[in-house]
Amino acid sequence: SAPLAEVDPEIAQVLDRELARQQGYLEMIASENFVPVSVLQSQGSVLTNKYAEGYPGRRYYGGCEEVDVAEELAIARAKDLFGAAYANVQPHSGATANAAVLHAIARPGDTLLGLSLDHGGHLTHGMKANFSGRLYDIVAYGVDPETSLIDMDEVRRLALEHRPQVIIAGWSAYPRQLDFARFREIADEVDALLWVDMAHFAGLVAGGVHPSPVPHAHVVSSTVHKTIGGPRSGFILTNDEALARKINSAVFPGQQGGPLMHVIAAKATAFKLAATPEFRERQQRTVRGAKILADRLAQRDVADAGISVRSAGTDVHLVLVDLRNAVIDGKQAEDLLHEIQITVNRNAVPNDPRPPMVTSGLRIGTPALATRGFGDAEFAEVADIIALALLPEPDVDALRARVATLTEAFPLYPGLSQ
Ligand code: PLP
Repeated sequence: SAPLAEVDPEIAQVLDRELARQQGYLEMIASENFVPVSVLQSQGSVLTNKYAEGYPGRRYYGGCEEVDVAEELAIARAKDLFGAAYANVQPHSGATANAAVLHAIARPGDTLLGLSLDHGGHLTHGMKANFSGRLYDIVAYGVDPETSLIDMDEVRRLALEHRPQVIIAGWSAYPRQLDFARFREIADEVDALLWVDMAHFAGLVAGGVHPSPVPHAHVVSSTVHKTIGGPRSGFILTNDEALARKINSAVFPGQQGGPLMHVIAAKATAFKLAATPEFRERQQRTVRGAKILADRLAQRDVADAGISVRSAGTDVHLVLVDLRNAVIDGKQAEDLLHEIQITVNRNAVPNDPRPPMVTSGLRIGTPALATRGFGDAEFAEVADIIALALLPEPDVDALRARVATLTEAFPLYPGLSQ
């Protein structure tokens, strides 16, 4: 019963300093967010003690009556939120959700057609060193080098040529909406299953600012911790009863043992919050903020420095910055923004001339700042700070002071102590 600060002061300090870091920096990593205190409470609760292999009402352990309630709530809310007939809320993460999807709908050696990693796809969509690239035969589509958009005619051409068993639609770094109906049409034409990984844009879908893949895909996977802003974890949706059964057995016992019941309870809360008008309004601010950033980075001063925005804008929660013609590279830009207390990540652009640890791009996202309360005026200020930071010879101290004004005006987790 002794507190963490007494038992393990070194780790207590990590928690304290990390809280201060999150409070003092502007978080613009597109895949990150801030969970509400209600979610922190479940995740730091006694539910972490409970083993509950199996599914509600069909467990392999006694004493599951309370955690069953939590999981039933999470399932019902996920189904309601996304209009799906079946939901599995047990995946520990997005990557394990994706492993379970492939376990359920493909056999090793099958052909998968997905967006290549260096064009914005995810590791689990067929990267060589990932299980997906090792177990399956991967064919990748990319984005058009001129427009940075996925060319659906090219997707169809590859599908007809390679006859994949699974077509994957989804991304980690792509600034536009996907044409789910067209993906499904192509999947049907070659008798493939369509799997949509909505990990990044699930919150936008739940908030009504992005089309839903659920009516089009055979299977949809997602994380809960990106735009949704819930606990770090995953879930899987389908409208097909036979697929739902396969997915359940692929998650447990196929991929996982005991589910993380403290996380599942937190997922239930996150899904409840995602059905509120406040959540919808936050997703609207998220998308508007990204557009404000894209517009600022398209202005003359930035363009003159050889910097552009890929696909000339955004429909989602992130902006991809192209530094191929700029003096500054992805690593330098990331480091410079860190110096003024804005956190982003460098990101390769297609056919990037610089090595992967350097890159010629940045991925900048707005979900965490929207959660922090930022509206149009604050996003315009952040956009201007970022634009000026990327220009030659930035006034680092002045920009850091402007960031501090914003972080002080929008306190994060006020009163929280770890
Ligand atoms: N799918 C997509 C599209 C992602 O962007 C990510 C995370 O970046 C994942 C899956 C994996 O999620 P996790 O990091 O929780 O395993």
